[in-house]
Amino acid sequence: MNFQEFSLDSRILAGVKSVGYTEPTPIQEQAIPVILQDKDVLGLAQTGTGKTAAFALPILQRLSAGPMRRIRVLVVAPTRELAEQIHQAFTDFSRHMKVRSMTIYGGVGKGTQMKQLRQGVEIVVACPGRLLDLYGEGYIDLSSVEVLVLDEADRMCDMGFLPDIRRIIKLLPAERQTLFFSATMPQDIRKLVNDILNNPVTVQIGMIAPAQTVDHAIYPIPQKMKKHLLLAMLERERTGQILIFTRTKYRARNLARDLERQKYRVAALQGNMSQNKRQAAITGFRNGKYDILVATDIAARGIDVTNITHVINFDMPDTVDAYTHRIGRTGRADRAGDAYTFAVPDDAAMVRQIERLLKHPIERKRLPDYDYGDFVPETAVNSVSSPSSQRKPNKNGRPANKRRKRNGRQRRRSPYSR
Ligand code: AMP
Repeated sequence: MNFQEFSLDSRILAGVKSVGYTEPTPIQEQAIPVILQDKDVLGLAQTGTGKTAAFALPILQRLSAGPMRRIRVLVVAPTRELAEQIHQAFTDFSRHMKVRSMTIYGGVGKGTQMKQLRQGVEIVVACPGRLLDLYGEGYIDLSSVEVLVLDEADRMCDMGFLPDIRRIIKLLPAERQTLFFSATMPQDIRKLVNDILNNPVTVQIGMIAPAQTVDHAIYPIPQKMKKHLLLAMLERERTGQILIFTRTKYRARNLARDLERQKYRVAALQGNMSQNKRQAAITGFRNGKYDILVATDIAARGIDVTNITHVINFDMPDTVDAYTHRIGRTGRADRAGDAYTFAVPDDAAMVRQIERLLKHPIERKRLPDYDYGDFVPETAVNSVSSPSSQRKPNKNGRPANKRRKRNGRQRRRSPYSR
């Protein structure tokens, strides 16, 4: 299938061509025709599937006719980075049209946003808080909104935006098209969907499983050796662009600083940085000024860097959903990527949950020729590691936990093979 088959305006097709897409991704194939028919859509799609174009292209088709300089499309997204990415996609696809898009989010002055609103735009891509602020102050007229997009709705709920979202929905015309995207469907999201979507068509792509093109591996390691292992790993694999995740802002900042001292071209991306610094880090990573970005989960939402070759979970994510989102940063749109996760013994339960999500065991690896000292990696994430973990005692001298029956499948493969 190609994009011509959607009967989109030739200016939009020219925009698609200019960004280099030749074939629609599965979610684009499914969602674009439905959205063009003005139907509500519930899109269950992980990040990296091409969902932005799946809604942006049919929306631009709607905007190719009708009134201008009034807000006809409102996209609500959880983070500034994702808002910028969506805005950029609209801008790229509409470069041969007269459509205007803008972003609204906090952490930056209101002046520019107010000016753009005064001048008139058709598309607003907003984070909930600042949108409500500007509305409350009388700067935004939402009475002409024809399409509402809620992107990464599950993440917005995680971040506590649900009440804000309900408030925003009350400000919109009841007669509208609603496009709702979420990677997961927890209870509160399901309720929101029932409340705000009208006979939606469900489009489901690889429900919450991370991109198929990614190779996953676990590196068992004690906490205190993580940095040392990372440096050894970077020594050996100094190619491509590497996104490293840490659990806290503090750890992201410190790790970036340590890597910088080792002469790596690295930037941190974490919530305590100003918007300008964050944007500089993302732009620098995208254009190759930095090879490594050390980020926290929330700060990294919406990073769109197509060449990321490795995601390294320096710290285990807190939830399976966070794993999906982190890994969604590599192997995007059919490119291959590697996802390495450093696992300390306490991470065993989370490893099991991730394996359940992936529906297969994750390969355990150790870095060749690396001195692990007296650490025995086989027992680190004991209940899911090699058959030998049943026999070898762990660090406390006790036999490792018995593996569950379902892990019998793992025996086919050596845990450290590659
Ligand atoms: P998204 O899921 O919208 O964040 O898109 C993930 C990545 O895939 C982005 O880098 C897009 O530019 C890219 N992408 C989306 N659709 C296509 C397509 N049809 N062909 C090639 N790349 C695409």
